[in-house]
Amino acid sequence: MVEITGPVRVRFAPSPTGFLHIGGVRTALFNWLFARHYGGQFILRLEDTDEKRFVQDAADDIMASMRWVGMNWDEGPDVGGPHAPYVQSERKALGIYQGPADALVASGHAYKCFVTPEGEEAMRAAWAAKGERPERFRFRGPERDWTPAQTAEAEANGRPFTIRLKVPLDGATSFSDLVRGGDQITIANADLYDLVLLKTSGMPTYHLAHLVDDHLMGVTHVIRGEEWVPSAPYHIMLYQAFGWHMPTFAHVPNILRQDGKGKLSKRKDDVSTNRFWERGYLSQAMFNYLALQGWSYDDKTEIMSRDEIVARFTIDRVQASPARWNPDKLKDMNGIYIRSLPTAEVAKLLMPYMVKAGMVADPPRAEDLSYLTQLTPLVHERLEELQQAAEMLAFFFADLPAYEPKLLIQKQMDAARTADVLRAAHAALNSIEVWATDTLEAQLRDLVGRMAVKPGQIFGSIRVAVSGRTVAPPLFETLAALGRERSMARIAAAAIALE
Ligand code: GLU
Repeated sequence: MVEITGPVRVRFAPSPTGFLHIGGVRTALFNWLFARHYGGQFILRLEDTDEKRFVQDAADDIMASMRWVGMNWDEGPDVGGPHAPYVQSERKALGIYQGPADALVASGHAYKCFVTPEGEEAMRAAWAAKGERPERFRFRGPERDWTPAQTAEAEANGRPFTIRLKVPLDGATSFSDLVRGGDQITIANADLYDLVLLKTSGMPTYHLAHLVDDHLMGVTHVIRGEEWVPSAPYHIMLYQAFGWHMPTFAHVPNILRQDGKGKLSKRKDDVSTNRFWERGYLSQAMFNYLALQGWSYDDKTEIMSRDEIVARFTIDRVQASPARWNPDKLKDMNGIYIRSLPTAEVAKLLMPYMVKAGMVADPPRAEDLSYLTQLTPLVHERLEELQQAAEMLAFFFADLPAYEPKLLIQKQMDAARTADVLRAAHAALNSIEVWATDTLEAQLRDLVGRMAVKPGQIFGSIRVAVSGRTVAPPLFETLAALGRERSMARIAAAAIALE
């Protein structure tokens, strides 16, 4: 059991270059849960120093996705806070990163490097020419050993330079990771290279910028994706070089693609968070599912409310092995959450999908909602995504779409016999006084006896006649909701279609 003592401050620090994918939301969620579990703060910081343009739409999408899943932040670009601004390009404009970079140069932990990209290429080529394996190349700038006068001269000549970390040539760097049970991870310094901290443009790299910000913002625990494990030794060195208090690291597992082959990918997988609310996932279901992508409470409990998850979330239950994306499981879970809601509430949630499908006027009228509330029980149990309702219920709203008449003919029936049955059903239903589920059922069951056919043979034909499909909501309820006029017209039309 990992003891967490003292105040907790964590952050989620996405780069606003595109929509937020589900793996990012999961990492954000673990930070949020950690903060809420320990009564600490959760910070949102946008990391846009990678000279990719800051995309406002992407920033908006990130925040909307996080809010949709149910996260709020105590400090961030839109809500402000004591360490504003929370956007790195704005922080760069304030000169926040230059000072620390200069300080590292002054203390001898970093150096100005004048090697151009072509120069670096030439170094790699020379390395390979010696018969060394290309992937074993570790960049070390010759300026590591320059005198201050040499550096000053190059600078005076106007040569562009980066600032690089001067990584020791020997020794090793270790750090411990909460997710790996506090185990030490040790890397030989000879396997590291002289990392760029400040680019020639004066822009800090992720390594410098996030670390300066984590320090200034008082971040106590760095909870981030495991793809950052290889970078962690550099960060340890930087903390040591600055003489700053080191946060605790927790590298959370990747989410693998459904087939287990590689990480979930923005390009290959349908994983943009906004797609899920468009398709009708409930935010509680998404929250619950994502919490289980790399964390578990025990070996069996799956359905948990937000409050339960907050109360139960401890970092020692975060696994080190990768999680596996499973859209079917998510769908299942969404179905469970949908079923747990009262029908009237589901009807309200379904309305936007009906409007979007053009089945209901925009804005919907009061009678549209009451009709939809009447229809919702017919599909409530079967819904796994709210959007499915539009397709399932379409035949209640529009004229019946064309269907193959042969669908009407059930097993061990032919066209003539089916037409007879439909005509008889039409006559039987015509005599019903009160058009309701129970009277419809009584009348049609009585017909089964009189016609000497199997229930499935009559009911199957009527189902296709009124819905145009072989799988539809329960028949008597469907007829009741569809109403006398439309039901009768569709049954009559079906009989004619078979002639
Ligand atoms: N900007 C980094 C990213 O997008 C943040 C990594 C971290 O949490 O330190 O992955």
